[in-house]
Amino acid sequence: MTSIAANMQAVIGRISRACAAVGRDPRGVALLAVSKTWPVAALREAVAAGQRAFGENYVQEALAKIGALRSLDLEWHFIGPLQGNKTRAVAENFAWVHSVDRLKIAERLSAQRPAGLPPLNVCVEVNVSGEASKSGVMCDEARALCRAVAALSGLRLRGLMAIPEPTPATDPESAVARRRFAQLRELRDELNADNAGNAGGLGLDTLSMGMSHDMEAAIMEGATIVRVGTAIFGERVKS
Ligand SMILES: *Cc1c(COP(=O)(O)O)cnc(C)c1O
Repeated sequence: MTSIAANMQAVIGRISRACAAVGRDPRGVALLAVSKTWPVAALREAVAAGQRAFGENYVQEALAKIGALRSLDLEWHFIGPLQGNKTRAVAENFAWVHSVDRLKIAERLSAQRPAGLPPLNVCVEVNVSGEASKSGVMCDEARALCRAVAALSGLRLRGLMAIPEPTPATDPESAVARRRFAQLRELRDELNADNAGNAGGLGLDTLSMGMSHDMEAAIMEGATIVRVGTAIFGERVKS
């Protein structure tokens, strides 16, 4: 077995154990392999081990891999910050975008989604830590952005995404991360509720949360997609 195949087995084991701890069906948690910075050969190893969904952060790098692996029928998720001049390439080549945090970007993606393709699946990225430097819309603004995105015909709003602040070593149980993930779940539930203040629930089925170091905490709080890079492919070399 290659080390990537062994790592994937270990990650799938972690997902199963976290699900078992809270009585969830592991089929309700999809594994997104975050392959940014890794070459096509590494992705091929993951595909050989059964992986089909890949997450990428950089448009140019992703387009090269999508082209090289076209014959394999993989599912591509864009998870990085998105600039206006890159939206067309993303709308044309990806199945999902997890990092929508501005209406302007969502409108461009919707308008540029080719008519022959199904609507682009999107998540609104929420800044649950409230740090000024981070990407994502603040919780207070997320409701209005979700309603506006849900109305765009080229997109299908699937749910919410978050990247909480890193877990400090003094918090081995990831209590802080769990609170942040719970906050995202509560926001999703609120947006789905069909009550007086809501003009109909949004039917969101996705919580994209949890990475290599905090996937257990995210799964325990309801993650439906975990985005895992390092635990599958190894440490990335910082550029
Ligand atoms: C890089 C990245 C990941 C994967 O992080 P790891 O710690 O390597 O698992 C997940 N989500 C986003 C948005 C990323 O940029």
